[in-house]
Amino acid sequence: MRGVGPKRGEVLKSEGIATALDLLNHLPRRYLDRTRILKIRDLNETDYEVTVIGRVGYVTYAGSRRGRPRLELGLDDDTGVLKCVWFEGLSYWKNIFQEGMPIAVSGKVNYYGGLQMVHPVVDILSDEEEEYDGIFTGRIIPLYPSGEEFRKAKLDSRGFRRIIISAWENLRENIPDPLSKSVRDSENLCQLHEAYRYIHFPESFTQTQEGFHRLKFDEFFALELLLAIRRRKRREKEIGISFPKAGELTRKLISSLPFELTDSQKQVLKEIREDMKSPHPMNRLLQGDVGSGKTIVAIILMTLAVENGYQAALLAPTEVLAEQHALVLTHFLKPLIIEPILLVGAQRKAEREKILQQIATGKAKYIVGTHALFQEGVEYHRLGLVVIDEQHRFGVAQRLAIRQKGERPDVLVMTATPIPRSLAMTIYGDLDVSVLSQSPVQRAGVRTVIRGEDARADIYKYIVEQSPKGAQTFIVYPIIEESEKLDLKAAVEGFELLRQGALSSCRMGLLHGRLSSEQKNKVLTEFRSGKIQVLVTTTVIEVGVDVPQATIMIIEHPERFGLAQLHQLRGRVGRGSQRGTCILLASGPPGDETMRRLDTLLKTDDGFLISEADLTLRGAGEFFGTRQHGLPAFKIADPLKDREILESARRRAFELIEQDPELHHHPALKKTVMDKYQASVPLAEVG
Ligand code: ADP
Ligand code: MG
Repeated sequence: MRGVGPKRGEVLKSEGIATALDLLNHLPRRYLDRTRILKIRDLNETDYEVTVIGRVGYVTYAGSRRGRPRLELGLDDDTGVLKCVWFEGLSYWKNIFQEGMPIAVSGKVNYYGGLQMVHPVVDILSDEEEEYDGIFTGRIIPLYPSGEEFRKAKLDSRGFRRIIISAWENLRENIPDPLSKSVRDSENLCQLHEAYRYIHFPESFTQTQEGFHRLKFDEFFALELLLAIRRRKRREKEIGISFPKAGELTRKLISSLPFELTDSQKQVLKEIREDMKSPHPMNRLLQGDVGSGKTIVAIILMTLAVENGYQAALLAPTEVLAEQHALVLTHFLKPLIIEPILLVGAQRKAEREKILQQIATGKAKYIVGTHALFQEGVEYHRLGLVVIDEQHRFGVAQRLAIRQKGERPDVLVMTATPIPRSLAMTIYGDLDVSVLSQSPVQRAGVRTVIRGEDARADIYKYIVEQSPKGAQTFIVYPIIEESEKLDLKAAVEGFELLRQGALSSCRMGLLHGRLSSEQKNKVLTEFRSGKIQVLVTTTVIEVGVDVPQATIMIIEHPERFGLAQLHQLRGRVGRGSQRGTCILLASGPPGDETMRRLDTLLKTDDGFLISEADLTLRGAGEFFGTRQHGLPAFKIADPLKDREILESARRRAFELIEQDPELHHHPALKKTVMDKYQASVPLAEVG
């Protein structure tokens, strides 16, 4: 291909670009709108975006004496100098700009003692791009992403424009379109080759939009086809378990409860029982905010499985939570004279052997544990139901491991993080959803405040005053996987410092994931009984830990947590009759972007809204942790922003699979789906 010799070929290949089509899939990161490029001397105030190209003249940093600190830049285009101003990200921009550097700035122009642009979008141009002015005037110019490696091979944005032109000349209309005309027509989609032309050589922004729309649709469509195929296979096989009997044992359990089930719990139970009765393997998500009473629903359903002669497993994300669940199950199952069994990683060999034996023989009916439940060597006698608590920690791979145990057990996933429906669909595809909408007890609730470092002393004073009056406090430190050791150290040091210093008059405890099960249990028991007044802890308590009388929570470095996670955390206090207080002890400068993010938590207590805000702010990938947690990675599309495209892609995909289950009549589509997903997910295996 013209413009690509061996050296460039190597560089491109190392970045996954091997064919002309791959090149067309190297998409612009943004466009430079030369249709609206103005010379500085022609500028006026505008209420729309214009672009000016020039070179960086002066850059000055104005300190805070005369008001807000700001960065000023003079952009010089030979017809005049335009002032550009930044109030945020000053140190970032200061390092970027160098005198004489060619840049394009885009934004609205306003008047403030002279014409200026505030926080314009900046494109740093190569020297050629600046000179290009003459040729490209009046056009929309794609700017391509080009990292260090690319630039060494002279593949900057302009270099890419050139070889993409030659890729296009090679291919043109000879790009097979996997979508049939009927799908395209009914979804108003352009042809695939048109999409590439629109994206790389646009004549208008309507075209770029149309082009991207098509590629986004394709991306979603491939995934949704996969999900539709999976569902179909699962339904066809029908080799799930049916639990027809709801008799004595279940009734006995319900009547022995110290409370009446809420209407919401009854409704959800009815729905799920129907599902369990059917011979299809159940695959259901139970959403319910913190404290909505999911655990008892799980115990009742587990009892239903047991009553039908099967084993039921309850899977928790952490050992602390597994241990707590075991306690709760022991408590509620007492009237049935059945004891649950606990399997976690930390158990000694002899003990473990004994437990595995009981699971294999079927002596153990109710089995609680961490992912240790689904490791190799764990054989079940007759596993009928798996309940997964707090699902966002478990991904596709784990669910696959679960499905391979036993004879396709029913799976119920419980979460307190309400996932927006569209996203739940993209991840789980055919998961059915039940919602616990009602809280069993009027909870006193939590008051949330943000405080800075300067308030720290007062906060400790408050704890010292409140503790003798019976208040119990959590102090939470973030632990992030990547920096686990350092984070743990911070928590342990924080604990020591407080114990010997500001909180020396309180009875303190320390809880983190690295303690042995016995130690963890001891600490939790002591906190529950009130022997420990202040518990310094890490995110191990994030989910499910239930100490109703705890009322104060201090969160260190809240900016390092996601909003949904913070919401979960604060759900640990104010569970009883007394109102809780959650103090976010922020370490960043107030008014900072990350700090402002936290405001959402002060404004609402609605977990659903918070999840949405979190998703929008951080993007889906980060929201769910890493990819291994099962979220498909999208290159172009964004399941949130492009929700409508997602939904129509889903509708079409499921329709198509109804008509052509194996995609026999759509070989190109089939190939696309296989190419894309076969490597990462065994097709049709994960449900
Ligand atoms: P979550 O949904 O957060 O897992 P839990 O199942 O832990 O909530 O329930 C929170 C508390 O409410 C527990 O102490 C539980 O025993 C209690 N509870 C559950 N259902 C009811 C009910 N119908 N009436 C009163 N209390 C209930
Ligand atoms: Mg729970």
